[in-house]
Amino acid sequence: MRPDWYLDEARRSMIMEAFVLGGSANDMAELRSGGNPFVGGEGPMPCRLMMIGEAPGEDEARMRRPFVGRSGRLLDELMKDAGILRRQTYITNVVKYRPSGNRNPTDGEIEAFKPLLRAEIKAVDPKVICLIGAIALQTVFPDLRVSRVHGKVIPYRKRKWVPIYHPSYVLRRRDLIPAADADMRTIKELLK
Ligand code: URA
Repeated sequence: MRPDWYLDEARRSMIMEAFVLGGSANDMAELRSGGNPFVGGEGPMPCRLMMIGEAPGEDEARMRRPFVGRSGRLLDELMKDAGILRRQTYITNVVKYRPSGNRNPTDGEIEAFKPLLRAEIKAVDPKVICLIGAIALQTVFPDLRVSRVHGKVIPYRKRKWVPIYHPSYVLRRRDLIPAADADMRTIKELLK
Protein backbone atom coordinates (compact mmCIF):
# COMPACT_ATOMS: atom_id res chain seq x y z
CA MET A 1 0.00 0.00 0.00
CA ARG A 2 1.19 3.51 -0.78
CA PRO A 3 1.96 5.76 2.20
CA ASP A 4 -0.54 8.61 2.56
CA TRP A 5 2.13 11.16 1.61
CA TYR A 6 2.83 9.38 -1.71
CA LEU A 7 3.50 11.95 -4.46
CA ASP A 8 2.05 11.46 -7.90
CA GLU A 9 4.28 11.90 -10.92
CA ALA A 10 3.17 15.49 -11.65
CA ARG A 11 3.92 16.73 -8.14
CA ARG A 12 7.22 14.90 -8.03
CA SER A 13 8.41 16.41 -11.28
CA MET A 14 7.29 19.89 -10.23
CA ILE A 15 9.39 19.60 -7.11
CA MET A 16 12.36 18.08 -8.89
CA GLU A 17 12.28 20.75 -11.56
CA ALA A 18 12.31 23.49 -8.96
CA PHE A 19 15.21 21.76 -7.30
CA VAL A 20 17.24 21.53 -10.48
CA LEU A 21 16.50 25.16 -11.37
CA GLY A 22 17.27 26.40 -7.90
CA GLY A 23 20.58 24.79 -7.11
CA SER A 24 23.58 26.48 -8.62
CA ALA A 25 26.49 24.08 -9.02
CA ASN A 26 28.71 25.92 -6.55
CA ASP A 27 26.18 26.16 -3.79
CA MET A 28 25.25 22.50 -4.11
CA ALA A 29 28.71 21.03 -4.61
CA GLU A 30 29.80 20.63 -1.01
CA LEU A 31 26.39 19.58 0.26
CA ARG A 32 26.11 16.86 -2.36
CA SER A 33 29.66 15.55 -2.02
CA GLY A 34 30.64 12.21 -0.56
CA GLY A 35 27.26 10.57 -1.03
CA ASN A 36 25.59 12.93 1.45
CA PRO A 37 21.93 11.92 1.03
CA PHE A 38 19.03 14.17 0.04
CA VAL A 39 16.49 14.41 2.88
CA GLY A 40 13.14 15.48 1.45
CA GLY A 41 10.05 16.67 3.25
CA GLU A 42 7.47 14.14 4.37
CA GLY A 43 3.79 14.17 5.09
CA PRO A 44 0.50 14.49 3.29
CA MET A 45 0.01 16.80 0.31
CA PRO A 46 -2.12 18.87 0.58
CA CYS A 47 -2.03 19.39 4.32
CA ARG A 48 -3.29 22.03 6.77
CA LEU A 49 -0.06 22.31 8.74
CA MET A 50 3.47 22.57 7.36
CA MET A 51 6.59 22.78 9.53
CA ILE A 52 9.90 24.04 8.21
CA GLY A 53 13.23 23.39 9.97
CA GLU A 54 16.77 24.36 9.09
CA ALA A 55 18.62 21.36 7.64
CA PRO A 56 18.93 17.65 8.45
CA GLY A 57 21.33 16.54 11.16
CA GLU A 58 23.30 13.31 11.40
CA ASP A 59 20.34 11.09 12.38
CA GLU A 60 18.15 12.63 9.69
CA ALA A 61 20.81 12.02 7.01
CA ARG A 62 21.22 8.41 8.14
CA MET A 63 17.49 7.75 8.08
CA ARG A 64 16.72 10.14 5.18
CA ARG A 65 13.84 11.62 7.11
CA PRO A 66 13.43 15.09 8.68
CA PHE A 67 13.34 15.54 12.46
CA VAL A 68 14.00 11.99 13.63
CA GLY A 69 16.92 12.68 16.00
CA ARG A 70 16.95 14.30 19.45
CA SER A 71 15.37 17.55 18.23
CA GLY A 72 12.75 15.54 16.38
CA ARG A 73 11.84 13.62 19.50
CA LEU A 74 11.30 16.84 21.43
CA LEU A 75 9.29 18.24 18.52
CA ASP A 76 7.15 15.06 18.52
CA GLU A 77 6.57 15.43 22.24
CA LEU A 78 5.56 19.10 21.99
CA MET A 79 3.21 18.28 19.11
CA LYS A 80 1.66 15.34 20.93
CA ASP A 81 1.11 17.38 24.10
CA ALA A 82 -0.66 20.06 22.05
CA GLY A 83 -2.79 17.46 20.29
CA ILE A 84 -1.17 17.79 16.85
CA LEU A 85 -0.68 14.57 14.89
CA ARG A 86 2.65 14.25 13.10
CA ARG A 87 1.12 12.01 10.44
CA GLN A 88 -1.23 14.87 9.58
CA THR A 89 1.65 17.36 9.29
CA TYR A 90 4.02 18.00 6.39
CA ILE A 91 7.55 18.41 7.81
CA THR A 92 10.53 19.64 5.82
CA ASN A 93 13.71 21.68 6.05
CA VAL A 94 14.93 24.77 4.18
CA VAL A 95 18.13 22.96 3.13
CA LYS A 96 17.72 19.32 2.17
CA TYR A 97 21.26 18.04 2.79
CA ARG A 98 23.10 17.89 6.07
CA PRO A 99 25.77 20.63 6.14
CA SER A 100 29.12 19.08 7.10
CA GLY A 101 30.02 19.14 10.78
CA ASN A 102 26.60 20.56 11.67
CA ARG A 103 27.59 24.05 10.52
CA ASN A 104 24.82 26.51 9.66
CA PRO A 105 23.82 26.51 5.99
CA THR A 106 25.37 29.39 4.03
CA ASP A 107 23.28 32.18 2.49
CA GLY A 108 24.02 30.71 -0.96
CA GLU A 109 22.78 27.27 0.09
CA ILE A 110 19.59 28.74 1.54
CA GLU A 111 19.01 30.70 -1.69
CA ALA A 112 19.59 27.58 -3.78
CA PHE A 113 16.83 25.74 -1.96
CA LYS A 114 14.23 28.51 -2.04
CA PRO A 115 12.61 27.39 -5.32
CA LEU A 116 12.13 23.89 -3.94
CA LEU A 117 10.70 25.26 -0.71
CA ARG A 118 8.29 27.49 -2.67
CA ALA A 119 7.21 24.50 -4.75
CA GLU A 120 6.64 22.47 -1.59
CA ILE A 121 4.53 25.24 -0.03
CA LYS A 122 2.49 25.44 -3.21
CA ALA A 123 1.93 21.69 -3.35
CA VAL A 124 1.19 21.32 0.37
CA ASP A 125 -0.98 24.46 0.35
CA PRO A 126 -1.07 24.72 4.16
CA LYS A 127 -3.26 27.03 6.20
CA VAL A 128 -0.58 27.32 8.88
CA ILE A 129 3.20 27.27 8.46
CA CYS A 130 5.39 26.79 11.51
CA LEU A 131 8.91 28.16 11.11
CA ILE A 132 11.25 26.18 13.35
CA GLY A 133 14.21 28.24 14.57
CA ALA A 134 16.12 31.26 13.32
CA ILE A 135 17.26 29.97 9.91
CA ALA A 136 13.74 29.00 8.81
CA LEU A 137 12.31 32.26 10.20
CA GLN A 138 14.91 34.45 8.51
CA THR A 139 14.57 32.58 5.21
CA VAL A 140 11.06 34.02 5.00
CA PHE A 141 11.25 37.09 7.24
CA PRO A 142 14.89 38.26 7.27
CA ASP A 143 14.33 41.05 9.80
CA LEU A 144 12.60 39.04 12.52
CA ARG A 145 14.16 37.41 15.58
CA VAL A 146 12.80 34.22 17.14
CA SER A 147 13.16 35.56 20.67
CA ARG A 148 10.78 38.41 19.80
CA VAL A 149 8.22 36.71 17.60
CA HIS A 150 8.00 33.06 18.72
CA GLY A 151 4.38 32.02 19.13
CA LYS A 152 3.09 35.09 17.27
CA VAL A 153 0.77 34.61 14.33
CA ILE A 154 2.03 36.43 11.22
CA PRO A 155 -0.54 36.70 8.40
CA TYR A 156 1.34 36.72 5.08
CA ARG A 157 0.30 35.69 1.57
CA LYS A 158 -2.99 34.14 2.65
CA ARG A 159 -1.34 31.86 5.20
CA LYS A 160 -0.65 32.07 8.94
CA TRP A 161 3.01 31.80 9.85
CA VAL A 162 4.08 30.93 13.39
CA PRO A 163 7.77 31.00 14.36
CA ILE A 164 8.85 28.74 17.23
CA TYR A 165 12.12 28.12 19.07
CA HIS A 166 14.19 25.38 17.49
CA PRO A 167 13.89 22.23 19.65
CA SER A 168 17.70 21.83 19.64
CA TYR A 169 17.85 25.23 21.40
CA VAL A 170 15.08 24.23 23.82
CA LEU A 171 17.09 21.07 24.66
CA ARG A 172 19.87 23.38 25.85
CA ARG A 173 17.47 25.90 27.43
CA ARG A 174 15.01 23.81 29.43
CA ASP A 175 13.54 27.00 30.91
CA LEU A 176 11.99 27.61 27.47
CA ILE A 177 9.85 24.46 27.58
CA PRO A 178 6.72 26.28 28.86
CA ALA A 179 7.06 28.83 26.02
CA ALA A 180 7.62 26.04 23.48
CA ASP A 181 4.50 24.29 24.81
CA ALA A 182 2.41 27.46 24.61
CA ASP A 183 3.60 28.18 21.05
CA MET A 184 2.57 24.70 19.91
CA ARG A 185 -0.87 25.17 21.47
CA THR A 186 -1.23 28.42 19.53
CA ILE A 187 -0.65 26.40 16.35
CA LYS A 188 -3.22 23.84 17.42
CA GLU A 189 -5.80 26.61 17.98
CA LEU A 190 -5.21 27.95 14.45
CA LEU A 191 -6.00 24.55 12.98
CA LYS A 192 -9.44 24.38 14.58
N1 URA B 1 17.13 20.12 12.86
C1 URA B 1 16.50 20.62 11.77
O1 URA B 1 16.43 21.83 11.58
N2 URA B 1 15.95 19.76 10.93
C2 URA B 1 15.97 18.44 11.11
O2 URA B 1 15.43 17.72 10.27
C3 URA B 1 16.62 17.94 12.26
C4 URA B 1 17.19 18.80 13.12
